[in-house]
Amino acid sequence: VAGCLVLMLAACGGRAGQGAAPTGPTKAVKPIVGVVLPDRTTSARWEEQDRPLLSSALNYADIEPFIMNAEGDETKFASIVDQMVERKVKVLMITPLSKEGGLSAQRKAKAAGIPVIDYDRVTLGGEAEYHVGFDSVNVGQLQADGLLQCLGNKPGAQIIEIEGAPSDHNATLFSQGQRAKLGAKYDSGVLKLVKSQPVEDWDNVLGGQLFEQILNANGGKVDGVVAANDGLAGAVIDVLRRKGMAGKVPVTGQDATVDGLRAVLRGDQCMTVDKPVRDEAEAAARLAIAIARGDTDGADDLATGNMRDPVAKRDIKAVLLGATLITKNTVRTLVTSGVVKPAVLCAGD
Ligand code: BGC
Repeated sequence: VAGCLVLMLAACGGRAGQGAAPTGPTKAVKPIVGVVLPDRTTSARWEEQDRPLLSSALNYADIEPFIMNAEGDETKFASIVDQMVERKVKVLMITPLSKEGGLSAQRKAKAAGIPVIDYDRVTLGGEAEYHVGFDSVNVGQLQADGLLQCLGNKPGAQIIEIEGAPSDHNATLFSQGQRAKLGAKYDSGVLKLVKSQPVEDWDNVLGGQLFEQILNANGGKVDGVVAANDGLAGAVIDVLRRKGMAGKVPVTGQDATVDGLRAVLRGDQCMTVDKPVRDEAEAAARLAIAIARGDTDGADDLATGNMRDPVAKRDIKAVLLGATLITKNTVRTLVTSGVVKPAVLCAGD
């Protein structure tokens, strides 16, 4: 106890007990940037990549990151937004679970005078000041390119599409990109589309179940699977493995998650897409920092792109980034550029 007292006295400048009020430099209150991530289960990216990257970029600029995960729950999403408004965040960054959830968050922020960045997903019909994300149509095109490469020349190949959540505009854009490359082949019969199945909420477990039903209904026949992200791809691969078909049927993916990359290396997954979340988080943080510092012109200079919202019929000021197709032969580029550590990728092997 005595030792602890000495430490406390030292911490107070040795004046404790003399009745002096603790003085010293007042700690400047840091501006806060609020970030609401959607969930932990539809893609490993949100906690694996987005959270740590956003957190360190904001901390580096001496801004307090207030990052929370809605755990796939709309009610939780809304209450996090309330907390952030109450804490007077300077900027609210959201990756909404649905259009309704996004719109309600934006309305609350607007009423409190807080600018909103739609992070990765656009809220259709909304009023966010900015959007930071990827060219999602191109991501879909890369998935189709990857599938075609893996399939090779296989006339009449039967394809099942396991798509993302209808409530996520990105899922629509991924599918548009895939169709831009595969549509003509379906029409001409070079490929046969067995079924295109959207998966509510990007639910991976549901995605696996739906895939299995479609596969069984098709007499167990499939030659290629378009899976909209690595999480859904993993669920599809589990079904294929149980049927002794894993590694024989190309499956697409997206997000370059650790599990996705491992599946690509094993040969169970044909490709993934590296959307450089490091660049996305960095761009969003820079934008948020400029806004938090009151530098609207600076923020506008960063958001040089435009993202079309077909519902609100407006262009949102945006930072739109490019993505890269990753196959078994190119996974190592992510290792050499330091994006993934070999020890992480090879853990357990
Ligand atoms: C993101 C993807 C992610 C998916 C599921 C999409 O909006 O762009 O990267 O895989 O949501 O979380």
